[in-house]
Amino acid sequence: MADKVGLAGSGTAGCPREEFLARFSMDELPADTPEARHIARCPECRQRLAALAEAMRLWERNGVPPCDTAVLKRIREGFHRKLHESDPDR
Ligand SMILES: [Zn+2]
Repeated sequence: MADKVGLAGSGTAGCPREEFLARFSMDELPADTPEARHIARCPECRQRLAALAEAMRLWERNGVPPCDTAVLKRIREGFHRKLHESDPDR
């Protein structure tokens, strides 16, 4: 794992990737998946989730990605898809 683990003995056996966090934040991740269950009770993941949301806000405001990760791009596409679904033609 390339993840930097700073908390020793936090009881987290491998946090899911950002991709899962993104889908979790968009309610696209079924609640009965191991990843969703993990995120729901992992403080570290909740923090990453918050950071992800913050990055998305900055991105929307500035029009540029805070960092060029493919993950963020996919999150953004996901958000737009959601927007179009709930508000098809405006
Ligand atoms: Zn975690």
